[in-house]
Amino acid sequence: MDAPGPVTATSHSQAPHERARPLAKGSVYPAKDLCSQCGLCDSRWVAYVKSSCAFLEQRFEAMETAAHGRSRDLDNQDELYFGVQQRMLTARLRRPIEGAQWTGIVSRIGVRALETGLVDAVLCVGQSETDRFTPVPRLARTPEEVLSARVNKPTLSPNLEVLEQLPGSGIRRLLAIGVGCQIQALRAVQPTLPLDELFVLGLPCVDNVSRQGLQTFLESTVSSPHTVVHYEFMQDFRIHFRHSDGREETVPFFGLDTPKLKDVFAPSCLSCFDYTNAGADLVVGYMGATFGRQWLTVRNPRGQVLLDLVEPELDVAPVSSSGDRRAAVQQGIEAYDKAVKLPLWLARLIGCVVKRFGPKGLEYGRFSIDSHFTRNALWLRRHHPEKLEAHIPAFAKAIISRYRLPAA
Ligand SMILES: Cc1cc2nc3c(=O)[nH]c(=O)nc-3n(C[C@H](O)[C@H](O)[C@H](O)COP(=O)(O)OP(=O)(O)OC[C@H]3O[C@@H](n4cnc5c(N)ncnc54)[C@H](O)[C@@H]3O)c2cc1C
Repeated sequence: MDAPGPVTATSHSQAPHERARPLAKGSVYPAKDLCSQCGLCDSRWVAYVKSSCAFLEQRFEAMETAAHGRSRDLDNQDELYFGVQQRMLTARLRRPIEGAQWTGIVSRIGVRALETGLVDAVLCVGQSETDRFTPVPRLARTPEEVLSARVNKPTLSPNLEVLEQLPGSGIRRLLAIGVGCQIQALRAVQPTLPLDELFVLGLPCVDNVSRQGLQTFLESTVSSPHTVVHYEFMQDFRIHFRHSDGREETVPFFGLDTPKLKDVFAPSCLSCFDYTNAGADLVVGYMGATFGRQWLTVRNPRGQVLLDLVEPELDVAPVSSSGDRRAAVQQGIEAYDKAVKLPLWLARLIGCVVKRFGPKGLEYGRFSIDSHFTRNALWLRRHHPEKLEAHIPAFAKAIISRYRLPAA
């Protein structure tokens, strides 16, 4: 990249971020087409972008070692897939938070972290006043502000732009909620942040989109795109859409308009291998749980501190696993490669069979990881062959090598 924004002072005793300014909105960011708009470059911490951006250089081992005291054990199948861990479980809030993405465990942890005084603020993502799906990152100082940020804004969100507000804010202890690319950059600049404590609550993430990309996705997939208020790809191999009048609509994964959607996902997400958020202290998603439950991975003692805030309010169950994903993943690779679109009746039929006999629990999580890692390796090979070797981390290479990819 070029110089990280104009230098505002001349003293060489200043740290790089004290001399830098955010890049101008709308400029070409250092990762260019691969930029996930994580917000780092919208803050003075752009000064460290070369050594922090997830799309300029991958550094999983160093990040895991700094955050958890060790990198993942590649011979342990659970760690190979889901990252460093001391505990995995499934759970749901006994009293779900209305309007949350799932049962609201993430928001409840944020609320409890403030109420108990564990932190001074929570980095979370609200929505714009005019558009439900336009993310507005914020440093929430009250439980109400955390609660109003509940539910996914399924679009690229510049979470780290709020780092710019830290100096002079009085915030010394922070809980940051975010997806993998945001957390990779945050971990890289952590030693330079004006904080005494940082807790990281990670969300798994794949296939994110720009706001425009989301519009294309909704218009090609759902009956009434403008009334969708919530959606999720769920463990029953269907996308569940909720409309503003409360109506639920489901679409089988296998019925998606692949030719139209092949390029709708952000290039950053098509080149990402941090699905399960390797750098977070605690991860809360759904991918390794059976239908209707949330899936949690505690990576280190700080993650357990976060879980302790809500564990008495959870209905907890062990993780489970059944089925065999491998043939379905291999078929999916070929279907994606040929950009096949199935007729809806066939998609529904396959969906019913897979739902009944297909992978469940952790095996569903592995199905989703295998499918996305192989697809992303193919995408990188076609669009950024120069990045292929350095960009795919060792754990992802081990997973991808289990499948036959189409010839280049
Ligand atoms: C873009 C995206 C893709 C995801 N994909 C998967 C997946 O493939 N598999 C899986 O298991 N889980 C995925 N998740 C996580 C999952 O959908 C739920 O967010 C998670 O289980 C928490 O549910 P909850 O009810 O506890 O969250 P809630 O209590 O509703 O809280 C949701 C939190 O998400 C944060 N948030 C909202 N939008 C964004 C955003 N764009 N970027 C960063 N943070 C945001 C908010 O700050 C809020 O704190 C994804 C999340 C996002 C945001």
